[in-house]
Amino acid sequence: MGLLTEGSPLSWEETKKLSDHVRKHGVIQFINLYKRLRDRQGDILKWGDEVEYMLIKFDDDSKTAKLSLRAVEILKILNEKENEDPKNVKSLWRPEYGAYMIEGTPGKPYGGLLAHFNVVEANMRYRRQEATKLLQPNEVLMSLTVFPRIGAPDFTDPPTHPTSNTGASKSLFFPDEAIYPGHPRFKTLTRNIRERRGEKVAINIPIYRDENVPLLFKEDLTSKGDDGSSSKASKDNHIYMDAMGFGMGCCCLQLTFQACNIQEARTLYDQLTPLCPIMLALTAASPFYRGYISDVDCRWSVISSSVDCRTQEERGLKPLKENKFRISKSRYDSIDSYLSKQGEKYNDVPLTYDDEIYKQLLDNDIDHLLAQHIAHLFIRDSVSLFSEKVHQDDLEDTDHFENIQSTNWQTMRFKPPPPNSSIGWRVEFRPCEVQITDFENAAIVCFTVLLTRVILSYKLNLLIPISKVDQNMVRAQKRDAVKVEKFWFRRDITSDVKSDDAQSEYTEFTINEIINGKDGIFPGLVPLVNSYLANMDVDADTHCTIQRYIKLIQKRASGELLTTAAWLRKEVLLHPEYKHDAVITQRINYDLLKKIHSIVSNDVLCPELLGQCISSKTTDTIPAAVAKAEKCSAASC
Ligand code: ADP
Ligand code: MG
Ligand code: MG
Ligand code: MG
Ligand code: MG
Repeated sequence: MGLLTEGSPLSWEETKKLSDHVRKHGVIQFINLYKRLRDRQGDILKWGDEVEYMLIKFDDDSKTAKLSLRAVEILKILNEKENEDPKNVKSLWRPEYGAYMIEGTPGKPYGGLLAHFNVVEANMRYRRQEATKLLQPNEVLMSLTVFPRIGAPDFTDPPTHPTSNTGASKSLFFPDEAIYPGHPRFKTLTRNIRERRGEKVAINIPIYRDENVPLLFKEDLTSKGDDGSSSKASKDNHIYMDAMGFGMGCCCLQLTFQACNIQEARTLYDQLTPLCPIMLALTAASPFYRGYISDVDCRWSVISSSVDCRTQEERGLKPLKENKFRISKSRYDSIDSYLSKQGEKYNDVPLTYDDEIYKQLLDNDIDHLLAQHIAHLFIRDSVSLFSEKVHQDDLEDTDHFENIQSTNWQTMRFKPPPPNSSIGWRVEFRPCEVQITDFENAAIVCFTVLLTRVILSYKLNLLIPISKVDQNMVRAQKRDAVKVEKFWFRRDITSDVKSDDAQSEYTEFTINEIINGKDGIFPGLVPLVNSYLANMDVDADTHCTIQRYIKLIQKRASGELLTTAAWLRKEVLLHPEYKHDAVITQRINYDLLKKIHSIVSNDVLCPELLGQCISSKTTDTIPAAVAKAEKCSAASC
C-alpha cells in the first residue's frame, strides 16, 4: 500500500493546515529528485509481483467462514526472517488495509531471463506455504479479491461490531477492528478521508436482479443505527456500503517493472494504459459485496468510491468556495494523461492541475507532459501525515512527494527511483484482480511481463484516447464483460502509421479478438507474444510453463473457460440453499470458500475455471545450466 512511515499521526484539522506545506515541499522534493535522476541510464529489466491475501477462519460445526483478524500476529513472525537477513529471503511480507490481510512479494525482483517465468509460480506457492504454516487449525490463507460476506452480520473472527457513532469509519457495517491495527496509517487514512469529504464515503453497486429480489430493493438502515445520512446516500436497488474497508479491504494483484531509463518508463506507462481495462475484465473476480450478489464483476468502482475524499464542492454538487478545483474522479481511479510524446495527442480529457505547481515544474526544466502529470497528482491533499515527518530535508528526503504520490491510487503508477538506491525508473501495473490459485496469478503476471517485452521489442503502439480508456474501464466491470462487451482498441498496433482521420485509428473489439486475434483484421496479443517467443532461445521447461499460462489466458478470453467472477456467480446460483434472492448466506459462503480451498489444494479439479492442465513445470530456482545457456544466447544476439 505504498509508503509506511512510522510515528504519530496528526488529526485531520492539523493535516489540513499543513496541506500546502506538504505540497510545496513534495514538489521541491520531486524537482530535486528529477534533477539528480533524469539522466540515469542503463538499468536492466527487473520486475516483481505483489499478491494480497486474506486470512479465513472456518468453523465446521456451525458451517461458517469468517475473516480472521490475525494479520498482525502472522506478519510479526513472517517479518522475522527479513529482519535478520533482508538480502537472503525468498519472500517479503507487508501489511495491508484489512486486519485480515497480508501482502507478499518475491524476496528479490526477477530479471530479464526467460527462465524467470518458470520460478514465479513456485515462489507464489512458497509464499502461500510459508504463511499457511503459521495458521491455526481451520484457518486458511486465500488469494480472494473480495470476501463474499464482507460487512454482512457476523463476518469476522473474533466477532466484532460496527460503531456508527464513533471511530474511524463510523460505518453501519464495517467495524474498525477489521482495519489493520498494527500501523496507524490505515485508520488515519480512513478517518481523514471521511472528514475531508465531510461525510461518510458512499458506495452504491447495483444488485443482481434474480427472481426473488424485491422489485424495490431498499434496506432498513435505521435499525443499523443510521442517523439519516446513510439513507440519503444509499440508492434504491443497489448494495449500499459506507466504509473504506469495502474497497481497500479487497485484494489485488500488482506488477512493477523497471525500465532502462526514464524515457522507456514513460513509454511503458503509456502503452500499458490501454491494457488496464482489458486485464481488469479478464481477471474479474469480485461479484459479491456485503453478502449480496451484485450486478458487477470487478472491485474497481467500489474501491474508487471507498476512498473518494472529494468534498461536495469538488464533486460539483455546490459552487466552489472553500476548495480550489472541480475534480472529476476519485483519487483511486484510472489515469488521466499519457506521459510520452507519442501519447500526447491522445490526452483528450481536460486535465485538472495546479497552475502554480505546473509553472514551477516547467521553470525547473521539466517538460509539459511530466509537469502536468505531477501537477495533477498534486491537486490532492495529504490524507495521512505524521508529526515526525513534517519537517524534512528536501535535498535528501522524498516523503512529502511520496505522501501525495502513494495516495493517488491509479491504474498505472510512474515510480521514480528511491533516493540513494540502486533502483531505477519503474512503472506499476495496478488494475488486476487476484485469482484463487497460484497458477492463474502466475499466468497473468507472466503474460503481462511478456506483453511489455513484445511492446518494447516490436515497438507496438497501443495508444487510444484517454476518454476511450475511461469508457473501457466502465465496460470492463460489467457482468460477463469478457463475453458481452466490446472494447475500444487500436486497429493497427504493429505499425505507427499516422492517420489523418483519428476516428479510424481505433475501433471496438471483443476481448477474444484483442487477445486471440481477428482473421485478417487484428493480429491478437497472444499471437504477437508467440511470435516474439519463437525468436528466443528458451529452455524446454520454461517453454512448457509459458505455454500453459498462455493457454489459460486464451481460453479465458474466448469464453471457453469461465472468469473467476463468472465461476463464483455460478457456484452461488447453483447452491441448494440459494433462494434466488441475491443473498449469500453463511452456509453458502462457507461451502463456496471450502470448495475454493479444495481447488487450491488440488483436492478437487475445476476444469471450467482452470482447464485440464494446471500443473506447470515451475521450479524454485533457475538451474545453473539454464541460466548460463540463456545468458550466452542473449549475448550472441
Ligand atoms: P508498492 O506496494 O509500493 O507498490 P512493493 O514494494 O510492495 O511496492 O512491491 C514492489 C514490487 O516491485 C515487488 O514485486 C518487487 O519485487 C518489485 N521490485 C523491487 N525492486 C524492483 C526493481 N528495481 N525493479 C522492478 N521491480 C522491483
Ligand atoms: Mg498492496
Ligand atoms: Mg506493496
Ligand atoms: Mg489493497
Ligand atoms: Mg503496489
